[in-house]
Amino acid sequence: MKETSPLNLYKQLPQTNCGKCGEQTCMAFASGLIARAKKVDDCPPLLEEKKYAKKLAALRVIVAPEVKMVDVGVGDMMKKVGGEDVMYRHQMTFFNKPPFAYDVTDTMEEAKLVERVKTISSWRKFYIGKWETVEMIAVRAVSGDPSKFAACVKKVKENSNFPLILCSFDPAVLKAGLDIVGKDRPLIYAATKDNWQEVAKLAHEYKVPVVLSSPFDLDGLKTLAVTFEQMGITDLVLDPGTAPNGKKLQESLQNFIKLRRATIEEGQKDIAYPTIALPINAWATTDDPVRAAYWESVLTATFVIRGADIMVKHSIDPHSVMPDMHLRFNIYTDPRTPVQVKPGIFTVGKPTKESPVFVTTNFALTYYTVESDVASNEIDCHILAVNTDGIGVQASVAGGQITPAKIKDSFKEAGFDLEAEMAYPSMILPGMAAKFSGELEDLFGGKVKILVGPEDSGRIIGWMKDRWPPK
Ligand code: SF4
Repeated sequence: MKETSPLNLYKQLPQTNCGKCGEQTCMAFASGLIARAKKVDDCPPLLEEKKYAKKLAALRVIVAPEVKMVDVGVGDMMKKVGGEDVMYRHQMTFFNKPPFAYDVTDTMEEAKLVERVKTISSWRKFYIGKWETVEMIAVRAVSGDPSKFAACVKKVKENSNFPLILCSFDPAVLKAGLDIVGKDRPLIYAATKDNWQEVAKLAHEYKVPVVLSSPFDLDGLKTLAVTFEQMGITDLVLDPGTAPNGKKLQESLQNFIKLRRATIEEGQKDIAYPTIALPINAWATTDDPVRAAYWESVLTATFVIRGADIMVKHSIDPHSVMPDMHLRFNIYTDPRTPVQVKPGIFTVGKPTKESPVFVTTNFALTYYTVESDVASNEIDCHILAVNTDGIGVQASVAGGQITPAKIKDSFKEAGFDLEAEMAYPSMILPGMAAKFSGELEDLFGGKVKILVGPEDSGRIIGWMKDRWPPK
């Protein structure tokens, strides 16, 4: 959706303020559409009453993302790819982080295949309050044998509910895979200038999304996209080619940027589809697995930054996955809203009446840093996360989002009575909020001891040695 105002969307709504969408007014619903917190289909009158048919059609056109959004997989595991509206994150936000798809091949020995599928499917890392995972499995046909590919796809399906990418340029091989998982809406890779007719038939017959591949030839890619669109196949993903190094890598990056720019800035609808990058190609450049994993990670980071919408990768080792996962996490958070935790009292370990109570803010990065520092040192405790609208300690002390009165109110709102519940009625302030200590003592009538902790929560364990329990 191009930048627009709620008023513009409001004009296409029934304007009855009936509340059936869960919002009190149509204007609030229009704002929800812009933030993508609401979908057009959430307005029942618009869908059900014939008199709104024209408005419905107009609204769908206005809210459609600039880059088409394509669903891969089904049910809870389904991943949306593409659907972006801006070139750069700071212009609004990015919506759908690019899934990481890890490869398996149909020449793998069965036990190793199953082990790898389970490793991929269970990979996760807790980062700033969320479990980050990888999202897809790319099944590559190396044997060229349809029956071997089918057996591999079947084994993958038995051991994972991840969305799949079926990879072969041979339509007979793709068909064998689709006969096993066609109903699960896999992405098929790929249609080329040589096989497009047969692959288009498969995409049509099985109603699955399809990758169009035309490496280093954007005109050829566009021709394929227009041809498929004319055949009524619009769940498309574009592969403009991923060179792992050298001048061709530069060309790859430029092509990804050109596609995104043509879509978003120039409004070229015939190539307005998500893209797929293949950092896995790094493995073709060296026999050294450490070097390959390193370079694959570098390529992934580069293409994440350049807006590729799916990544096909090989190394599932933490040292290769984690840097890219953290980068992706940060680029795909909404810059309009600080990452925050719900304000309130949290427990770490099994706190008792003798345990300390730490105060911090609800900025997720701050909260989880404190939590991780106390948990890793096995300090059973309570943590009060004060609602600062997701602003960190130093900035919120300066900006007034955290104050002594707010800290007191936060304990009250959490129903946590320091005097009644704790053997040592006290709280430990972050070092950067030291100036609140006198006023807080007064607010609690001198009955709660105010301790000033370190500025860096990594030093809490050392700080506690001399100061806890309080004297
Ligand atoms: S359901 Fe539709 S008509 Fe009713 S308030 Fe929401 S947007 Fe307006």
